[in-house]
This record gives sequence, structure tokens and C-alpha cells, in this order.
Amino acid sequence: ARAQAMQVNSSPEVTYDDIGGLEEQTREVREAVEEPLINAEQFAEVGIDPPSGVLLHGPPGTGKTMLAKAVANETDATFIKMAGSELVQKFIGEGARLVRDLFELASEHEPAIIFIDEIDAIAAKRTESKTSGDAEVQRTMMQLLSEMDGFEDRGEIRIIAATNRFDMLDRAILRPGRFDRLIEVPNPDREGRERILEIHTQDMSLADDIGLGAIADQTDDFSGAELASLATEAGMFAIRDERTTVTTEDFEDALEKITDTDGEETGPIAFY
Ligand code: ATP
Repeated sequence: ARAQAMQVNSSPEVTYDDIGGLEEQTREVREAVEEPLINAEQFAEVGIDPPSGVLLHGPPGTGKTMLAKAVANETDATFIKMAGSELVQKFIGEGARLVRDLFELASEHEPAIIFIDEIDAIAAKRTESKTSGDAEVQRTMMQLLSEMDGFEDRGEIRIIAATNRFDMLDRAILRPGRFDRLIEVPNPDREGRERILEIHTQDMSLADDIGLGAIADQTDDFSGAELASLATEAGMFAIRDERTTVTTEDFEDALEKITDTDGEETGPIAFY
């Protein structure tokens, strides 16, 4: 069961080219994670320690997991993923043990990148979460920090964490030697949205007159994940209509469908 909680992927398929926008974030992740892995001697010669842990923070579905996978791919590192929520839903003592196993697994598969999603589940400020006062959660976090401390002698393991709730984090985990490289991953701007739409429609049969730029104009505040599902939804409209080519109108219908549901969930008119 413990092995199941950790997802090991010897070579994730994602590359930097699959990521739309996020040029600056990609550059920073490469500097903090890729360089130390492929150029360890240079860090040693200059005489500095590479950043210990990288924390990606930003809204859901913006490409944080993709970034971590792309670095693993690029460096031929094993990608080991674990969700913070899984670390805390275990029996007493199990969280800390899982963290130990996680690092042990990584050292058996060097070079390795450990990706901890939803780090807030084990590292929330005491005041912000029901569970963070929990001694078990604290123990899990302490174990993670102590594994990270043992890092320098550990060789080719890098750690990347992600959160949608940066405001909730216990600042103790951001100290030097811990998650000391912060990278914000925001929703895409207009140009980023167009690029993401290009990426997610590259295998689709699009009508010749389709304008992805115009769709990018109409999708302010969309995340990368939402743009990906917009493209799929547009394809669904074509299929319902028994066509094999996706038109601008399909995208407009998809947009209407997606924004409608959003309105119901979060719109200001919904009182109950
Ligand atoms: P969460 O915080 O919810 O875990 P995340 O930021 O890790 O989300 P990802 O898992 O990387 O998001 O993205 C989910 C999916 O959305 C991706 O598999 C991809 O299809 C699409 N996507 C998100 N961001 C981008 C992007 N910048 N470029 C291309 N596709 C994207």
C-alpha cells in the first residue's frame, strides 16, 4: 500500500515544448533543479550549495506538475510524485515513515526528482487548518525537513513542492536550506493562452478560418487546464454534430457551456 501512494515514473513524457507561456518560470526551474543535477561539479568548484527545495505556487491547473515532469524528463531523472494529502491520511506514525520511504526510493533511483503536490496539507500555519495542529501532521513535516537537511551528502536528488495555498503555509518551511526557491506560476496572459491553445489543438482537425488569437482574447482568467478542457469540449460539439472538423462556433459553444457552469458555482447571484 505504501508503494502505491507514491507514483514513480522513470521518464515522464512532458517536455518544455508542451508548456505554454511560463518562459520565466521554466528558466528559473531549470536553473534551480536542472543545473545542479547536470552540473554538480560546477557548483562544487564555485563553492556554493544549490537551492535545497523549489516551491511552485499559484492557482490550480497552471502547469506546476508539468514543469516538474519536464525537468525530470530533460535530466533523465526518475519522477516520484506524492500528494501532501496522502501523507496525512495515514495511520499514526505512517506519514513520517512514508516520507522516509520516499527519500529512500529516490536514492535507489538517482538521479531523481521528488515532487510533493499540495504541500500545504503537511505545512499549514497552525491557525489556518484544522489538521495542522495535529501532532501527526507536525511529525510528517519535521521528517520532511530533516530528510532535506541530509541532502548535500545525498547526491542526485532534487525536491520540488507545489501549492495553491501559498498564503496558508507555515513560513518555517521557506527558510534557507528548506524550500528556499519560490517560483510563482500564475494563470497565463493573452499570449500564453494562445500558445496553450495551439499546443492543445495541434492534433485536432481545425477549420481553416479558426482564430486561436480571438479565443485567447475571450478567455481571460482561464487556467491552462481550463483551456485544455475548452479544446476538448469544442471537439465534443463537433462530434455531436457528426463533423470531423472543429469550427470557431464549436469553440464559442464550448466557451458558453464552460462559463455557464462557472457562473452557477461561483456567481454572485447564487444565494442559498
Ligand atoms: P494543480 O495545482 O491543480 O495540481 P497544476 O498547476 O499542477 O495543477 P498541471 O497538472 O500541470 O497543473 O496541469 C493540468 C493540465 O492542464 C495539464 O496536463 C495540461 O493539459 C494543462 N495545462 C496546464 N497548464 C498548462 C500550460 N502552461 N501549458 C500547457 N498545458 C497546460
